[in-house]
Amino acid sequence: MKKITLNREQIFQGNLLLVNEHNPLQHTVPSEQIRPLERPAVQPAASGSPSGRQPVCMERKAALVLETLLAAIGSGSALVSVSGFRSHTEQEAIYHSSLAEHGADFTRSYVALPGCSEHETGLAIDLALNQEPIDFLCPCFPKDGICGRFREKAAAYGFIERYQEGKETLTGIAPEPWHFRYVGIPHASVMAFHNFCLEEYLDYLTSFPYEGKHLEIRVENKAFELFYVEAETDITEITLPGYLPFQVSGDNQKGFIFTLWR
Ligand SMILES: [Zn+2]
Repeated sequence: MKKITLNREQIFQGNLLLVNEHNPLQHTVPSEQIRPLERPAVQPAASGSPSGRQPVCMERKAALVLETLLAAIGSGSALVSVSGFRSHTEQEAIYHSSLAEHGADFTRSYVALPGCSEHETGLAIDLALNQEPIDFLCPCFPKDGICGRFREKAAAYGFIERYQEGKETLTGIAPEPWHFRYVGIPHASVMAFHNFCLEEYLDYLTSFPYEGKHLEIRVENKAFELFYVEAETDITEITLPGYLPFQVSGDNQKGFIFTLWR
């Protein structure tokens, strides 16, 4: 057995952070955890983009997985990354330029408040079909063709379509078929199976506490065990079987999600 010690600050770190208007991001992502995307090679001259032709960046693991997924579907230059990691200052600039250009209703629907955008985690990516003009805020990412192939494969690589139609009251964001979020393979698979948005999924996970029955799932030939731990005021201690690889993520709310590879 091995003892895991978590401090309260770790609630605000990990792949499963819930970032929305009720749960602002509490930590700035360290710059060494962010890197430019290598694929696809073509960068759009995105209209309305305050960052112009700057490289699109993501959190390192999410970037690697996205590149692998794009290669697996043979996207070549058919898809482009429009917007990935945004600093708090960049999100503020986008929010204010959208307010000035498109007004309050549009901005409320499509642009998260600074501090409440998933793009500030480095785990989100906006993708577009590589055809001009590319709209920076609402890129074209249809259901069929190469975009359909991306959607079909996304969960198997740990990505979810974050803002789906019918979930607006939960997410607070209008449908955004171009916005994908990295959460990790077992989580994306459960969410796709149940058609959960991230808000619903994290709520569902709280019904699998450490002391109770854990969520056991199999994705292809890998078995995973998932459970939830509410954080103590200061230090949270958990004992795990010593031989299993595991990962912990905060939920940016009250606790931690453990992922064990069985
Ligand atoms: Zn987005």
